[in-house]
Amino acid sequence: MTKILLIVAFTIAIVLWFKHQSGKRDELPREEKMPEDMVRCVVCKVNLPRSEALLSQGKFYCCDEHRRRGG
Ligand SMILES: [Zn+2]
Repeated sequence: MTKILLIVAFTIAIVLWFKHQSGKRDELPREEKMPEDMVRCVVCKVNLPRSEALLSQGKFYCCDEHRRRGG
C-alpha cells in the first residue's frame, strides 16, 4: 500500500513539475538563450520583441527617447 502511495505522489510531482516548466516558458529569460526575435535596447538593456524595437544605425532601442539618447 505504501508503494502505491509513493508512486501516486511521484506521478503528481512529475505532473506538477511539467506544468511548472511549461508555465515558465511565458516568462522572458533574463540573460542568454534569447529567442531569435528578441532584441535588447542598448540604453536600458531591456529585452523586447524585434517588431516592437526601434532600429537605428544597427542598434536596437526600446523607445524613441532611448533612440535619441543613443548608445
Ligand atoms: Zn531603452
